[in-house]
Amino acid sequence: MDKNFQEEFTQIIKFQPPLYKQRHQFVKDLVEKYKPKKVADLGCADCSLLWMLKFCSCIEVLAGLDICANVMKEKMHTLSPLPVDYLQPSERSLTVTLHHGSVAHKDPCMLGFDLVTCIELIEHLEESELKKFPEVVFGFMAPSIVVISTPNSEFNPLLPGVMLYRHPDHKFEWSQAQFQSWALETARCYNYSVEFTGVGHPPTGMEKVGFCTQIGVFVRKYPQTVQSEKPTEAVYKTVFKAVYPSLKDEKYLQNAVISEVMFTAQIIKHRLMSKHKEYGDDPERKSKFQPSMDCFSDYLGKLVVEKNMEPFVSGNEVYIPLTTIFSFPKVNRLCGTFEKLCKLIAGKVTLSSDGSAVMFNTEYE
Ligand code: SAH
Repeated sequence: MDKNFQEEFTQIIKFQPPLYKQRHQFVKDLVEKYKPKKVADLGCADCSLLWMLKFCSCIEVLAGLDICANVMKEKMHTLSPLPVDYLQPSERSLTVTLHHGSVAHKDPCMLGFDLVTCIELIEHLEESELKKFPEVVFGFMAPSIVVISTPNSEFNPLLPGVMLYRHPDHKFEWSQAQFQSWALETARCYNYSVEFTGVGHPPTGMEKVGFCTQIGVFVRKYPQTVQSEKPTEAVYKTVFKAVYPSLKDEKYLQNAVISEVMFTAQIIKHRLMSKHKEYGDDPERKSKFQPSMDCFSDYLGKLVVEKNMEPFVSGNEVYIPLTTIFSFPKVNRLCGTFEKLCKLIAGKVTLSSDGSAVMFNTEYE
């Protein structure tokens, strides 16, 4: 490389967004593309990638692994559910777990993942660990997709202040040819295909240098073998586990349905009562307001209107049929079936004696 040219660039190379963010964004884009349900991040360090991935709605299981428990513990609280997650439980389920251990060891908790990410991990491995790594990740874990990123040593002369390696803990840094030959051999051994890309573009005119971070995306060629064929002892230590509230959990679904039923019933009651007041006590006019659902169709959306399904006032009580409430899209989507609605609110909401309508006293809001 021309020395003057090189010196000129070492002064100006600054990635925007920063390189680590570009790497994480790369993984996020991959998740959006392949929609894996179970993702494991090996060498997860301060959990920043995991934190970003918890917002990907396709993911139901997230796991992190690192040999350094302290670095994981620093920010692991950011992976805990927030109050808003309890107030509005999500439709998907999500479990986040952090394990303390080495990628050189197999543990059954790492089985069954769709995507495994190893971002800037391999260059931290000792020779003996790097030797075991392919068998653990590709042979044992055998996810559908593996992403491995590592520094491209050919880019180093362009980076200011890099003498040998970019980080004092790096055991090696590979050129593009070195990484690609290791990756191709690994892919061949374990029946994966691999494609190379990267983040951190080289300056114009220096394209040969390649990306600052080189990335291999490995895709498994054949379906995974049955997992029960892989018995192995647990060696990792679980240091964190969070189960997010989800509507898949009956307890949270019941709460959500009850509040939605009450909210819907209140809206209907409110409309009904204002009409009631409008028509006063004139029995002839009063009878007019009662059956027509059209008067508040703007609130009710597409209701199944039948005479016997309409809300009505009797004495001090307002009756709002469950069938009417069930026809509201949100209640309908939450419960799925009318039977499920009845089951979820049984004993939790005051119903008419035959159980067909929600009952409110007109005197109380
Ligand atoms: N993946 C992170 C940072 C990687 S730094 C990111 O994207 O920002 C490398 C991490 O790998 C460190 O946290 C280090 O503790 C961890 N590590 C090193 N050797 C390991 C091993 N044998 N098994 C698991 N993790 C290891």
